Amino acid sequence: MKKVLVTSRSFGKTSPKPFAVLEGAGIEYTLMGGDFDEEKFKEVIPQYDGLIIGAHPFYPEDMARCEHLKIIAKHGAGLDNIYLEDAKKLGIRVTNVPAMNANAVADLAFAHILNISRGISITNERVHRGAWETFIGKDVFEKTLGLIGFGAIAKNVARRARGFSMKVLVYDPFVTEIPEEFQDFVTLTDLNTVTENSDIISIHVPLTDSTKHLFDKERIMKMKKEAYLINTGRGGIIQEQDLYECMKNGHLGGCAVDVMEHEPMEKDCPLLGLENFVVTAHIGMYSIEAISAVSVVCAENVAKVLNGEEPRFVIV
Ligand code: NAD
Repeated sequence: MKKVLVTSRSFGKTSPKPFAVLEGAGIEYTLMGGDFDEEKFKEVIPQYDGLIIGAHPFYPEDMARCEHLKIIAKHGAGLDNIYLEDAKKLGIRVTNVPAMNANAVADLAFAHILNISRGISITNERVHRGAWETFIGKDVFEKTLGLIGFGAIAKNVARRARGFSMKVLVYDPFVTEIPEEFQDFVTLTDLNTVTENSDIISIHVPLTDSTKHLFDKERIMKMKKEAYLINTGRGGIIQEQDLYECMKNGHLGGCAVDVMEHEPMEKDCPLLGLENFVVTAHIGMYSIEAISAVSVVCAENVAKVLNGEEPRFVIV
Protein backbone atom coordinates (compact mmCIF):
# COMPACT_ATOMS: atom_id res chain seq x y z
CA MET A 1 0.00 0.00 0.00
CA LYS A 2 1.33 3.47 -0.94
CA LYS A 3 1.91 5.85 1.95
CA VAL A 4 1.45 9.62 2.05
CA LEU A 5 2.55 12.04 4.75
CA VAL A 6 0.53 15.23 5.21
CA THR A 7 2.31 18.11 6.96
CA SER A 8 -0.17 20.83 6.04
CA ARG A 9 -2.17 21.89 9.10
CA SER A 10 -5.31 22.65 7.15
CA PHE A 11 -5.45 19.69 4.76
CA GLY A 12 -8.95 18.19 4.83
CA LYS A 13 -10.03 20.41 7.72
CA THR A 14 -13.19 21.67 6.00
CA SER A 15 -14.42 18.68 4.01
CA PRO A 16 -14.05 14.86 4.09
CA LYS A 17 -13.65 14.71 0.28
CA PRO A 18 -9.82 14.81 0.12
CA PHE A 19 -9.61 11.84 2.48
CA ALA A 20 -12.12 9.96 0.32
CA VAL A 21 -9.92 10.65 -2.74
CA LEU A 22 -6.85 9.16 -0.99
CA GLU A 23 -8.78 6.18 0.37
CA GLY A 24 -10.39 5.58 -3.03
CA ALA A 25 -6.91 5.35 -4.55
CA GLY A 26 -5.84 2.81 -1.92
CA ILE A 27 -3.43 5.25 -0.23
CA GLU A 28 -2.62 5.14 3.48
CA TYR A 29 -2.08 8.61 4.95
CA THR A 30 -0.53 10.04 8.10
CA LEU A 31 -1.52 13.50 9.34
CA MET A 32 1.36 15.39 10.92
CA GLY A 33 0.21 18.96 10.42
CA GLY A 34 -1.39 19.62 13.79
CA ASP A 35 1.68 18.75 15.86
CA PHE A 36 4.38 19.28 13.24
CA ASP A 37 7.88 18.62 14.47
CA GLU A 38 10.80 19.19 12.10
CA GLU A 39 13.07 16.52 13.60
CA LYS A 40 10.30 13.92 13.50
CA PHE A 41 9.54 14.90 9.89
CA LYS A 42 13.18 14.35 8.87
CA GLU A 43 13.17 10.97 10.58
CA VAL A 44 9.97 9.59 9.01
CA ILE A 45 9.81 11.15 5.53
CA PRO A 46 12.04 8.47 3.87
CA GLN A 47 9.26 5.91 4.51
CA TYR A 48 6.73 7.75 2.35
CA ASP A 49 5.79 7.67 -1.34
CA GLY A 50 4.09 11.05 -1.32
CA LEU A 51 4.11 14.28 0.69
CA ILE A 52 1.39 16.91 0.98
CA ILE A 53 3.46 19.75 2.35
CA GLY A 54 2.60 22.88 4.29
CA ALA A 55 4.87 25.89 4.75
CA HIS A 56 7.90 24.29 6.45
CA PRO A 57 11.17 23.81 4.57
CA PHE A 58 12.14 20.46 3.07
CA TYR A 59 15.91 20.60 2.65
CA PRO A 60 17.81 18.94 -0.25
CA GLU A 61 19.82 16.67 2.08
CA ASP A 62 16.55 15.29 3.50
CA MET A 63 15.00 14.92 0.05
CA ALA A 64 18.06 12.93 -1.04
CA ARG A 65 17.35 10.31 1.66
CA CYS A 66 13.82 9.70 0.31
CA GLU A 67 14.16 6.72 -2.02
CA HIS A 68 10.42 6.11 -2.33
CA LEU A 69 9.22 9.71 -2.63
CA LYS A 70 7.49 10.36 -5.97
CA ILE A 71 5.56 13.57 -5.35
CA ILE A 72 5.62 16.70 -3.21
CA ALA A 73 2.20 18.34 -3.47
CA LYS A 74 2.24 21.88 -2.07
CA HIS A 75 -0.96 22.60 -0.15
CA GLY A 76 -1.15 26.14 -1.55
CA ALA A 77 0.55 28.27 -4.18
CA GLY A 78 3.87 29.57 -2.74
CA LEU A 79 6.85 27.32 -3.51
CA ASP A 80 9.58 29.16 -1.59
CA ASN A 81 9.94 26.30 0.95
CA ILE A 82 10.68 23.67 -1.71
CA TYR A 83 14.05 23.22 -3.43
CA LEU A 84 12.75 22.71 -6.95
CA GLU A 85 16.04 22.02 -8.72
CA ASP A 86 16.94 19.35 -6.17
CA ALA A 87 13.52 17.72 -6.49
CA LYS A 88 13.92 17.70 -10.27
CA LYS A 89 17.36 16.06 -10.06
CA LEU A 90 15.96 13.41 -7.75
CA GLY A 91 13.01 12.72 -10.07
CA ILE A 92 10.43 13.88 -7.51
CA ARG A 93 7.39 15.60 -9.02
CA VAL A 94 6.37 18.91 -7.46
CA THR A 95 2.88 20.36 -7.85
CA ASN A 96 1.15 23.35 -6.32
CA VAL A 97 -2.40 24.69 -6.37
CA PRO A 98 -2.37 28.15 -7.89
CA ALA A 99 -5.29 30.55 -8.08
CA MET A 100 -7.75 28.40 -6.07
CA ASN A 101 -7.03 30.42 -2.94
CA ALA A 102 -6.99 33.70 -4.85
CA ASN A 103 -10.41 34.82 -3.65
CA ALA A 104 -9.67 33.97 -0.02
CA VAL A 105 -6.34 35.85 -0.01
CA ALA A 106 -7.80 38.81 -1.91
CA ASP A 107 -10.64 39.03 0.62
CA LEU A 108 -8.09 39.09 3.45
CA ALA A 109 -5.95 41.73 1.73
CA PHE A 110 -9.02 43.89 1.24
CA ALA A 111 -10.15 43.28 4.81
CA HIS A 112 -6.72 44.52 5.96
CA ILE A 113 -7.08 47.59 3.73
CA LEU A 114 -10.47 48.48 5.24
CA ASN A 115 -9.37 47.62 8.77
CA ILE A 116 -6.21 49.70 8.75
CA SER A 117 -7.96 52.63 7.04
CA ARG A 118 -10.75 52.77 9.61
CA GLY A 119 -8.93 51.55 12.71
CA ILE A 120 -11.35 48.68 13.29
CA SER A 121 -8.99 46.40 15.20
CA ILE A 122 -7.37 49.34 17.01
CA THR A 123 -10.77 50.58 18.23
CA ASN A 124 -11.88 47.05 19.07
CA GLU A 125 -8.84 46.55 21.30
CA ARG A 126 -9.34 49.91 22.97
CA VAL A 127 -13.00 49.16 23.70
CA HIS A 128 -12.07 45.73 25.10
CA ARG A 129 -9.65 47.55 27.41
CA GLY A 130 -12.52 49.77 28.57
CA ALA A 131 -11.71 52.84 26.47
CA TRP A 132 -14.68 54.00 24.35
CA GLU A 133 -12.62 56.32 22.15
CA THR A 134 -13.12 57.73 18.68
CA PHE A 135 -10.72 57.00 15.85
CA ILE A 136 -10.58 59.20 12.78
CA GLY A 137 -9.66 57.06 9.81
CA LYS A 138 -9.66 57.57 6.07
CA ASP A 139 -12.01 56.67 3.21
CA VAL A 140 -10.85 53.91 0.91
CA PHE A 141 -13.24 55.19 -1.76
CA GLU A 142 -11.42 56.78 -4.75
CA LYS A 143 -7.95 56.30 -3.23
CA THR A 144 -4.94 55.10 -5.23
CA LEU A 145 -4.05 51.46 -4.64
CA GLY A 146 -0.60 50.17 -5.61
CA LEU A 147 -0.30 46.47 -6.37
CA ILE A 148 3.12 44.79 -6.30
CA GLY A 149 2.64 41.82 -8.62
CA PHE A 150 -0.37 41.30 -10.87
CA GLY A 151 -1.05 37.57 -10.66
CA ALA A 152 -4.18 35.72 -9.60
CA ILE A 153 -4.51 37.28 -6.13
CA ALA A 154 -3.62 40.84 -7.15
CA LYS A 155 -6.18 40.69 -9.97
CA ASN A 156 -8.86 39.69 -7.47
CA VAL A 157 -7.81 42.59 -5.22
CA ALA A 158 -8.14 44.91 -8.22
CA ARG A 159 -11.65 43.52 -8.89
CA ARG A 160 -12.59 44.42 -5.30
CA ALA A 161 -10.92 47.86 -5.64
CA ARG A 162 -13.14 48.63 -8.62
CA GLY A 163 -16.14 48.52 -6.29
CA PHE A 164 -14.50 51.30 -4.25
CA SER A 165 -13.80 53.42 -7.37
CA MET A 166 -10.09 53.15 -6.67
CA LYS A 167 -7.38 54.02 -9.15
CA VAL A 168 -4.95 51.09 -9.32
CA LEU A 169 -1.22 51.28 -10.15
CA VAL A 170 0.53 47.99 -10.86
CA TYR A 171 4.20 46.98 -10.83
CA ASP A 172 4.88 43.57 -12.36
CA PRO A 173 7.87 43.27 -14.72
CA PHE A 174 6.54 39.96 -16.08
CA VAL A 175 3.23 41.45 -17.23
CA THR A 176 3.32 43.23 -20.57
CA GLU A 177 -0.34 44.12 -20.97
CA ILE A 178 -3.24 44.77 -18.65
CA PRO A 179 -6.24 42.56 -19.58
CA GLU A 180 -9.22 44.39 -21.03
CA GLU A 181 -11.47 44.02 -17.98
CA PHE A 182 -9.05 46.21 -15.96
CA GLN A 183 -8.04 48.75 -18.55
CA ASP A 184 -10.30 51.60 -17.41
CA PHE A 185 -8.89 51.75 -13.86
CA VAL A 186 -5.55 49.87 -13.75
CA THR A 187 -2.23 51.32 -14.98
CA LEU A 188 0.92 49.22 -15.43
CA THR A 189 3.95 51.24 -14.40
CA ASP A 190 7.37 51.11 -12.71
CA LEU A 191 8.10 50.35 -9.06
CA ASN A 192 9.02 53.91 -8.05
CA THR A 193 5.83 55.35 -9.55
CA VAL A 194 3.74 52.82 -7.63
CA THR A 195 5.72 53.42 -4.44
CA GLU A 196 5.53 57.21 -4.54
CA ASN A 197 1.94 57.68 -5.70
CA SER A 198 -0.11 55.09 -3.84
CA ASP A 199 -2.21 55.74 -0.74
CA ILE A 200 -2.22 52.01 -0.06
CA ILE A 201 0.29 49.43 -1.33
CA SER A 202 -0.61 45.73 -1.31
CA ILE A 203 2.09 43.12 -1.93
CA HIS A 204 1.23 40.03 -4.03
CA VAL A 205 4.56 38.64 -5.28
CA PRO A 206 6.36 35.42 -4.39
CA LEU A 207 9.46 35.54 -2.20
CA THR A 208 12.43 35.31 -4.58
CA ASP A 209 15.93 36.77 -4.74
CA SER A 210 14.50 39.81 -6.50
CA THR A 211 11.64 40.39 -4.02
CA LYS A 212 13.53 39.68 -0.78
CA HIS A 213 13.59 42.89 1.26
CA LEU A 214 12.08 44.77 -1.68
CA PHE A 215 10.45 47.03 0.91
CA ASP A 216 13.50 48.17 2.83
CA LYS A 217 14.06 51.54 4.50
CA GLU A 218 14.84 53.29 1.21
CA ARG A 219 11.63 52.10 -0.45
CA ILE A 220 9.41 52.59 2.59
CA MET A 221 10.68 56.15 2.90
CA LYS A 222 9.66 56.74 -0.74
CA MET A 223 6.05 55.89 0.16
CA LYS A 224 3.71 58.73 1.13
CA LYS A 225 4.12 59.52 4.82
CA GLU A 226 0.51 58.55 5.63
CA ALA A 227 0.28 55.58 3.24
CA TYR A 228 -0.67 52.07 4.34
CA LEU A 229 1.44 49.02 3.50
CA ILE A 230 -0.30 45.62 3.27
CA ASN A 231 1.53 42.31 2.84
CA THR A 232 -0.34 39.06 2.30
CA GLY A 233 2.45 37.77 -0.02
CA ARG A 234 5.37 36.40 1.96
CA GLY A 235 7.38 37.43 4.98
CA GLY A 236 10.85 38.57 3.99
CA ILE A 237 9.58 40.89 1.23
CA ILE A 238 9.40 43.66 3.85
CA GLN A 239 12.62 44.30 5.81
CA GLU A 240 10.99 44.21 9.24
CA GLN A 241 13.63 46.08 11.23
CA ASP A 242 13.57 48.87 8.64
CA LEU A 243 9.76 48.90 8.78
CA TYR A 244 9.86 49.26 12.55
CA GLU A 245 12.32 52.13 12.42
CA CYS A 246 10.33 53.98 9.75
CA MET A 247 7.02 53.50 11.60
CA LYS A 248 8.49 54.41 14.99
CA ASN A 249 9.59 57.69 13.45
CA GLY A 250 6.07 58.36 12.17
CA HIS A 251 6.52 57.25 8.57
CA LEU A 252 3.45 55.32 7.24
CA GLY A 253 -0.12 55.60 8.45
CA GLY A 254 -0.06 51.89 9.22
CA CYS A 255 1.03 48.46 8.10
CA ALA A 256 -0.97 45.23 8.03
CA VAL A 257 0.55 41.85 7.29
CA ASP A 258 -0.50 38.20 7.17
CA VAL A 259 3.06 36.92 6.78
CA MET A 260 6.28 37.44 8.71
CA GLU A 261 9.90 36.60 7.94
CA HIS A 262 9.87 34.14 10.86
CA GLU A 263 6.63 32.35 11.63
CA PRO A 264 5.40 32.12 14.31
CA MET A 265 6.69 35.68 14.78
CA GLU A 266 8.87 36.46 17.78
CA LYS A 267 6.79 37.42 20.81
CA ASP A 268 9.15 40.31 21.53
CA CYS A 269 9.11 41.66 17.96
CA PRO A 270 9.17 45.46 18.39
CA LEU A 271 6.47 45.88 15.72
CA LEU A 272 3.98 44.43 18.21
CA GLY A 273 4.46 47.57 20.28
CA LEU A 274 3.03 49.74 17.49
CA GLU A 275 -0.74 50.19 17.55
CA ASN A 276 -0.89 50.83 13.78
CA PHE A 277 0.88 47.56 12.97
CA VAL A 278 -1.75 44.87 12.43
CA VAL A 279 -0.90 41.20 12.00
CA THR A 280 -2.85 38.04 11.22
CA ALA A 281 -1.28 34.60 11.62
CA HIS A 282 -0.84 33.55 7.95
CA ILE A 283 -4.56 32.92 7.48
CA GLY A 284 -4.77 34.10 3.84
CA MET A 285 -6.05 30.88 2.32
CA TYR A 286 -7.92 29.77 5.39
CA SER A 287 -11.48 29.97 4.17
CA ILE A 288 -13.69 26.90 4.07
CA GLU A 289 -14.04 27.16 0.29
CA ALA A 290 -10.32 27.59 -0.42
CA ILE A 291 -9.11 24.85 1.93
CA SER A 292 -11.61 22.34 0.49
CA ALA A 293 -10.64 23.10 -3.11
CA VAL A 294 -6.88 23.06 -2.46
CA SER A 295 -7.02 19.84 -0.40
CA VAL A 296 -8.96 17.97 -3.08
CA VAL A 297 -6.45 18.95 -5.79
CA CYS A 298 -3.51 17.86 -3.60
CA ALA A 299 -5.16 14.49 -2.87
CA GLU A 300 -5.98 13.98 -6.56
CA ASN A 301 -2.43 14.89 -7.64
CA VAL A 302 -0.86 12.49 -5.16
CA ALA A 303 -3.25 9.71 -6.24
CA LYS A 304 -2.48 10.40 -9.92
CA VAL A 305 1.31 10.34 -9.55
CA LEU A 306 1.28 7.22 -7.39
CA ASN A 307 -0.90 5.54 -10.04
CA GLY A 308 1.48 6.55 -12.82
CA GLU A 309 -0.78 9.32 -14.20
CA GLU A 310 -0.02 12.96 -14.97
CA PRO A 311 -1.02 15.39 -12.15
CA ARG A 312 -2.37 18.96 -12.52
CA PHE A 313 -0.30 22.11 -11.91
CA VAL A 314 3.08 20.46 -12.46
CA ILE A 315 6.06 22.59 -11.41
CA VAL A 316 8.80 19.98 -11.98
P1 NAD B 1 0.77 34.38 -9.12
O1 NAD B 1 1.89 33.51 -9.56
O2 NAD B 1 -0.54 34.27 -9.83
O3 NAD B 1 1.23 35.92 -9.20
C1 NAD B 1 2.48 36.36 -8.77
C2 NAD B 1 2.82 37.56 -9.63
O4 NAD B 1 4.03 38.14 -9.13
C3 NAD B 1 3.07 37.22 -11.10
O5 NAD B 1 2.24 37.99 -11.94
C4 NAD B 1 4.54 37.54 -11.32
O6 NAD B 1 4.80 38.06 -12.60
C5 NAD B 1 4.76 38.59 -10.25
N1 NAD B 1 6.16 38.75 -9.88
C6 NAD B 1 7.10 37.79 -9.71
N2 NAD B 1 8.28 38.35 -9.35
C7 NAD B 1 8.07 39.69 -9.31
C8 NAD B 1 8.89 40.79 -9.00
N3 NAD B 1 10.18 40.63 -8.71
N4 NAD B 1 8.34 42.02 -9.01
C9 NAD B 1 7.03 42.20 -9.30
N5 NAD B 1 6.20 41.18 -9.64
C10 NAD B 1 6.71 39.95 -9.63
O7 NAD B 1 0.59 34.12 -7.58
P2 NAD B 1 -0.65 34.47 -6.64
O8 NAD B 1 -1.54 33.28 -6.56
O9 NAD B 1 -1.21 35.79 -7.03
O10 NAD B 1 0.10 34.58 -5.23
C11 NAD B 1 1.04 35.60 -4.99
C12 NAD B 1 1.82 35.25 -3.75
O11 NAD B 1 0.94 35.32 -2.63
C13 NAD B 1 2.37 33.81 -3.71
O12 NAD B 1 3.62 33.71 -4.36
C14 NAD B 1 2.45 33.51 -2.26
O13 NAD B 1 3.76 33.81 -1.79
C15 NAD B 1 1.44 34.46 -1.63
N6 NAD B 1 0.32 33.73 -1.00
C16 NAD B 1 0.06 33.99 0.30
C17 NAD B 1 -0.99 33.33 0.94
C18 NAD B 1 -1.32 33.61 2.37
O14 NAD B 1 -1.83 32.72 3.04
N7 NAD B 1 -1.10 34.81 2.88
C19 NAD B 1 -1.74 32.38 0.23
C20 NAD B 1 -1.45 32.18 -1.10
C21 NAD B 1 -0.41 32.84 -1.73
